[in-house]
Amino acid sequence: MEAHRHQPTRRGLLRSGAGLGAAALGLTAASATAAQAAGTTGEAVSTAYPTTHWIPASSSNYTVSNRPTTYTINTIVIHVTQETFQDAMRIFKDPAKQVSTHYMVASADGYIGQFVREKDIAWHAGNWSYNTHSIGIEHEGWVDQPEYFTDALYNSSAQLTAAICTRYKIPRTRTHIIGHVEVPGATHTDPGPYWDWDRYMALVNAY
Ligand SMILES: [Zn+2]
Repeated sequence: MEAHRHQPTRRGLLRSGAGLGAAALGLTAASATAAQAAGTTGEAVSTAYPTTHWIPASSSNYTVSNRPTTYTINTIVIHVTQETFQDAMRIFKDPAKQVSTHYMVASADGYIGQFVREKDIAWHAGNWSYNTHSIGIEHEGWVDQPEYFTDALYNSSAQLTAAICTRYKIPRTRTHIIGHVEVPGATHTDPGPYWDWDRYMALVNAY
């Protein structure tokens, strides 16, 4: 938790995943923070990005890179945490866990935490090649509990995915927006049978 000391979004962190309403979250993250988290400080950032909250993962849990220069970014991998937001956040911050994600969306209110900059390689897909070329988005919930997949979660995640597609010119199709289960060699089943892909892709294409 040492890394929090110099972060300007500590209040955002404390609120993350706490089930607070959207009104309580709306003003916590400055757009400058979102730009910094995306690794593009000083450059133009698409206004289509939803509000995100920078909650850095342990530096032991991802690989520093300089994407998309070093590796093209052509895939978004959709995950379900099998943990609460707070527990998953602790995992990403624990250097012993060796796992991370770029983003995680909270079930209750669609709050988006960012844990790894998009230029860096998060360890989420269980496949090095896919990790190098993808952005990982975790969703708070369990694959067998569809009640976690709320309207707020779908909307927030779809807006984020749409913005990432725009930034890297990724086609908004199921070839490029895939579930963890679809990663070659995957030992995970997420996002599972209750994830509504038709609904999600319609939202992604609507933003
Ligand atoms: Zn997964």
